[in-house]
Amino acid sequence: MLLVALFVLLDRFQQYLRSSEILRAPAHVSSGGLRPSVQPKPSGAGAAHERSALCNSFYGTICKKSGESRDPTGIVRPDIEGEIEALRIYEEIIRQHRDWTSDQVDEELVKVIYTPERRGRIESAFRWVRQTLERLIDRERRSVFTTREKTLLKQRIRGTRLELPPPAALYADEPDIFTKNEVFYERTMDGQRRMRVGGAYLFTSKSWFNVIFTLAHEFGHAIDPCELRSAGLSFPAYDRLTACFLQFGWVPFHKDRSTECGENDQLSEIFADWLAVRVTAEALKTFATEFHATQLVGAAVNAVRDLCEQDDPQLEVDLTNHPAPQFRIESIFGRNPKVREILGCGPAPGSEYCGFEFQPPVLDQAEPFAQSQTRF
Ligand SMILES: [Zn+2]
Repeated sequence: MLLVALFVLLDRFQQYLRSSEILRAPAHVSSGGLRPSVQPKPSGAGAAHERSALCNSFYGTICKKSGESRDPTGIVRPDIEGEIEALRIYEEIIRQHRDWTSDQVDEELVKVIYTPERRGRIESAFRWVRQTLERLIDRERRSVFTTREKTLLKQRIRGTRLELPPPAALYADEPDIFTKNEVFYERTMDGQRRMRVGGAYLFTSKSWFNVIFTLAHEFGHAIDPCELRSAGLSFPAYDRLTACFLQFGWVPFHKDRSTECGENDQLSEIFADWLAVRVTAEALKTFATEFHATQLVGAAVNAVRDLCEQDDPQLEVDLTNHPAPQFRIESIFGRNPKVREILGCGPAPGSEYCGFEFQPPVLDQAEPFAQSQTRF
């Protein structure tokens, strides 16, 4: 008992040290010094080729790679590898402690998987994304969001908690997450907003850029059009953005607009990706001057690497809510003007990109979008 208490204390102390270290990181890096430190290497040959391959086809370049992909902050592995690693740990604990209850096994499992170091990585990325989102909202012009709208959006972001075990009881209602790759946002029955991270994800993704994209996507759900609608909020800028998604065919057009936030609708997923790409562009920008071209390409690849179809047929991509990987990677990520600028891609040919300032064309077909203003 005493030994356990001692370990808990040591654990807390290490966590404390780590968090204070993170907060004391040098101030010259943007967004509060929460990004990882890396050792840039001199540029190798073939950098121009790698960049032009990516610029020509984001999806083709990112998803043709098999196995793990690397950037200076870490790797991204196929989903299945993380899940196998988590399951192996689970089996090993059961093998060594056959007399333990499932609660005891779970407690040990989360202690081994959610180490202070891995938790720290997620926690600091969570804070980085939160700060970056707040900054992006503050930066929007008055013609996009009023001061009140900005406050409401930032409150929703601030009010979203990150829940990371231990203790295992934190995920008591869904203990199989410990060995899953899932990262998700959810609103509880009593109105709390939280984000949870599956244990396998900690093994699958060690790249800071992937964690940033993933958490930013989930934060996006805290302020996605459907969440705002269910909270009784209606912002004109969101109507314009939705109109743009419909206009360019990002979201399938339903005659009955009320189905947009229904079971099989992609509006909230497209929004979450669109927002995550904006945050990822900021993440790439913070390293743009110290990374050489190959490293920057690696960072961009890793940010969205796990959106690709996985080799394992057991892990087929869920297309009921999420748009197809090709669309997410090629159109939402690869056509974002800022991402292209940072990577040195030049503008995508003939592409319009959606934003809050979108103005629907004054044509007959603009009629349905005008109606949406009252429904949102
Ligand atoms: Zn989502």
